[in-house]
Amino acid sequence: MSGPLDDRLAELHGLPRDFGRADLEALQFARLNATIAHARRNSPFYRARRDWPEGEIRDRRDLARLPFTTAADLARADPSFLAVSQSEVERIVTLPTSGTVGPAKRVSFTAGDREATFDFFQHGMALFTRPGDRVVVAFPAERPGGVGDGLVAALTRLGATPVIAPSEASPAELADLLRRSGARIAAGPPVRLLAAARVSAADGGAPIRLDAALVSSDHASASLRRGLERAWGCAVHDHWGMTETGYGGAVECAAHAGLHVREADLLVEVVDPATGAALGVGESGEIVVSTLGRRAMPLLRLRTGDRGRLIDAPCVCGSRLMRLDGIEGRFGDAAVLPGGVRLSMPRLDELLFALDGVCDVAARLTEGAPSTLRLTIAATARAKGEAAATARAAIVADAGLGPLVTSGALRLDVVEAEGALLLARGKRRLIREDARCAGSS
Ligand SMILES: [Zn+2]
Repeated sequence: MSGPLDDRLAELHGLPRDFGRADLEALQFARLNATIAHARRNSPFYRARRDWPEGEIRDRRDLARLPFTTAADLARADPSFLAVSQSEVERIVTLPTSGTVGPAKRVSFTAGDREATFDFFQHGMALFTRPGDRVVVAFPAERPGGVGDGLVAALTRLGATPVIAPSEASPAELADLLRRSGARIAAGPPVRLLAAARVSAADGGAPIRLDAALVSSDHASASLRRGLERAWGCAVHDHWGMTETGYGGAVECAAHAGLHVREADLLVEVVDPATGAALGVGESGEIVVSTLGRRAMPLLRLRTGDRGRLIDAPCVCGSRLMRLDGIEGRFGDAAVLPGGVRLSMPRLDELLFALDGVCDVAARLTEGAPSTLRLTIAATARAKGEAAATARAAIVADAGLGPLVTSGALRLDVVEAEGALLLARGKRRLIREDARCAGSS
């Protein structure tokens, strides 16, 4: 027993079907050293670097000798990261920057880079998708070369039937599509699926029953997962990835005990976010990724800004691929409130998605003395009119945030939105602003 990802990895890279961790790591470091050579020869950014270590990188401990690549390096884009000629670039994806200023990041892919991603999507979806299944794809499709595109191609290869949800579809329309299509699987951003699940559970229509939901492109809190499981009776499979690393990164198997890393194409490490020192397996820190096969834009030790920990113990599903667990995106966005209380979007999600009527949440923290947290709640039609009060009560009941609100150390302002889904695309974040500059936005 090993599973579709391991079998495909062995087939593509000439490993024995019963390969072990040592075989896999030998493959990874051979591919890493080839990537370093390709980057140093062909990528202007890496060609300009002067701090290369002597000799080859032999194992995980040796990785620390290799300098990091940061998000700021990527955003600067000068010198360019591109390691192939423009004619070999098949797709360029422009990413908005995480802040409000600065140039957008451009990520390039060759046809081969995209092929590797389709292949990972296909075999990752095969963990819970069978040929003949209908799969509703609710990722925004207007960005060519994005996740939606790749997933549709991968599902078609798998023999499944993708049913594309229009990106402007409301939660009610998405629920309607799930009912009409006869799909047994849905794939989309977690909040988009949750909103459809909650609207469908409260609209008096026929219940939707799914086998599986794949969530990706944003944090999925435990409470959100429970909401999907309860509304649709489905298993939830999380996926982690980012455009910079070619989308596909790690996917959750039926054991639901972490996400199996795409290890033939990505070398994942976890480091101390403050010092950059390597952390041991099982320790939580910043996820760092090196690409192992990318031609257009090889990236070496990219600091992702996401938090997680690695698990190397064998998984009960039989896969030998390491797992990522405890993933929290953009942990640097978190604010520390009086008394050391940490405020982050995942923490708010955990509290607020536990409420049945809540479909989406936006949060803005205006920092001052005291700070003000403004929450915008999108609710089901049934919960409208009381969702703001319920959300406030949930915050006040929280052991960390509650005392700050009741003592006046944190002002809490909760409003309800019109629809059942806010318009935020991609990763939802805790927006932070300084009280001295607030007011105009
Ligand atoms: Zn597994």
